[in-house]
Amino acid sequence: MTWTPSAIIDSESLVGQGAPIPVVNPANEEVIAEIPEADEALVERAMTSARAAFERGDWRLMSVEERQRILRACADAIEAAAAEIAEIECSNTGIPLAQIRNGAAIRAAGNFRFFADYIGQMAGELYEQARDYLTLVRREPVGVAVLISPWNSPLALGSMKVASAIAFGNSCVLKPAEQAPLGLTRLVEVIQGAGLPPGVVNLVNGFGASVGERLVRHPHADRISFTGGTHTGRRIMAAAGENLKPSIMELGGKSANIIFDDADFDQALDGALLGIFSNNGQQCLAGSRILVQSGIADRFTEALVERARRICVGDPRAPDTEVGPLANRNHYRHVMGFVPDAADRGARILVGGERPKGFDRGFYFSPTVAEVDSNSHRLCQEEIFGPFASLMRFDTDEQAYRIANDSRFGLVGYAWSRDIDRILTAQDRIAAGTIWCNTPMMRDLHAPFGGIRESGVGAEGGRAAEAFYTHQKSVIIPR
Ligand code: NAD
Repeated sequence: MTWTPSAIIDSESLVGQGAPIPVVNPANEEVIAEIPEADEALVERAMTSARAAFERGDWRLMSVEERQRILRACADAIEAAAAEIAEIECSNTGIPLAQIRNGAAIRAAGNFRFFADYIGQMAGELYEQARDYLTLVRREPVGVAVLISPWNSPLALGSMKVASAIAFGNSCVLKPAEQAPLGLTRLVEVIQGAGLPPGVVNLVNGFGASVGERLVRHPHADRISFTGGTHTGRRIMAAAGENLKPSIMELGGKSANIIFDDADFDQALDGALLGIFSNNGQQCLAGSRILVQSGIADRFTEALVERARRICVGDPRAPDTEVGPLANRNHYRHVMGFVPDAADRGARILVGGERPKGFDRGFYFSPTVAEVDSNSHRLCQEEIFGPFASLMRFDTDEQAYRIANDSRFGLVGYAWSRDIDRILTAQDRIAAGTIWCNTPMMRDLHAPFGGIRESGVGAEGGRAAEAFYTHQKSVIIPR
C-alpha cells in the first residue's frame, strides 16, 4: 500500500486523526492506500499556515524574478518526477499511463512555467488627466486561495489551480478529490523542495462534506476555486456568497460536436473519437453529443462505430491501452445506469453499452455510441461523464445550432467544416465558453477556460486568473 499523508502543511507531511479514506485502483479494485482524513485541527492548521505565509510576505513581496525562478524550479521538479507521478496517477485513476505521461504530467509542469512567464509581463496603469496628481492602479495578491479539485484529471486540474493561485503572490490550500488524491499529493510533496517558502502551498486530504465544507467556509479563505459537479458547485458558491468571497466554478458539460457535410472526414472522425474517448471519456470538455449532417451521416456513423469497436480497452498501464476503467465503483454504476434507460426511451446502442468481455475485476465499460432521434433524450441532456457518445443527425445548419444550444450546459463546442464562413458562423452561434474549430481540445493558457449556463461561473487561464487572484488598488499621489 502506498503511504500518503493526510496533509502537507508548512512543507511537512502529516498524518491526521480522521476516518480512513480508502483509495482504490479502478483497474483491479484493490485498496492501494488508506489515508487518515485530515481532521478539523489539521484543516485549521493548513488555513492558518497559508494565512501566516501570506502575512509574513516572503512570497508575495518577493521580487518577480525570484518568484519566477521558484515557479520554474517547481516545473523542473515535476518534470524530474513525472514518470513516478504518472505511475501513481495511473494506478489511482485508471487513465492510460501513456496519456498521463504525454499529457497531464507534462501539462502540470507547463502550468507552472506558463504562470512564471505570465507574471513577468504584468503591468499596472497610470492616469494623469488631473494636472496636480497621478493615479496609479496596481494589482495585489488577495491572500489565501482554497482550491478544490475533482477526480477525473487530478494532475492537470490541480496543478493549474496551484500554479495560477501562487504565481500572483497568494498562498493556497488544495483539497484533491477523496477518490483520487495520490498523484496530486505527490506533486505537492515534490514541489516543496523547489524553494517555496513554508505555508505557500498546503494540501489537505478528505471528503467534500467534511474537509471541503470546512475549507470553503473558513474565514481565512479569500478566494475559492472549484472544479467539479454542478450540484456541488451550487453549494460551494452559496457558502462563498455568505462570506462575500469571490469564487470560480468550473462545472459540468454536455458539449455538441457538429460535423458538417463538408468537413475533412478523417480529421473530424479522429477529432470526434478523441473528443469522447480520451481520458476514459471522463472529461468536462468531452464532445459527448456528436451531431452529424445527413449528407455524410451514414458513412460517418459506420466509420465511428467501427473505430469505437476497435479501441483497445484494457489495463491502463499497458502501452497500447486507449481506454482504461472508469474511475470508481459509484461512477461505474452511474454510467452503466444509462444503458437500460437508453433502449427503453428509443435510443439505439450501435456499439458498446456493456462491460467488455474478459474483465472479471475493474470498472471497465466499453466505448459506446448510441443513436438518438431527439435531443430531449436523457442521453443528450445529462452528463454521463464516460466513454459514451450520443449521435444525432441534422439537415440544416440552423437545426444543428438549435440542437447544440438546447442544453442547460455551455462549456465547449466543436465545429468541423472546410468552409470558413460556416466556421465563423458556428463559433458565433454555439453558446459555450470555448469553441474548437477543426481541432479538438488544443489549449493556449492565455485564453480563458470556463463555462456559461450551468457549466460554470468565471474562468481559469491567463488574464482571467490574474483578475481572480489579484485585486486592483488605486493609489493617488499629488505632484
Ligand atoms: P464533485 O462535485 O463530486 O467533487 C469535486 C470536489 O469537490 C471533490 O474534491 C469533493 O471532495 C469536493 N466537494 C464535494 N462536496 C463538497 C462540499 N460540500 N464542499 C466543498 N467541497 C466539496 O465532482 P466529481 O464527481 O469529483 O467531478 C466530476 C465533475 O467535475 C463533472 O461534472 C465534470 O464535468 C466536472 N469537471 C469540470 C471541469 C471544468 O473545467 N469545467 C473539469 C473537470 C471536471
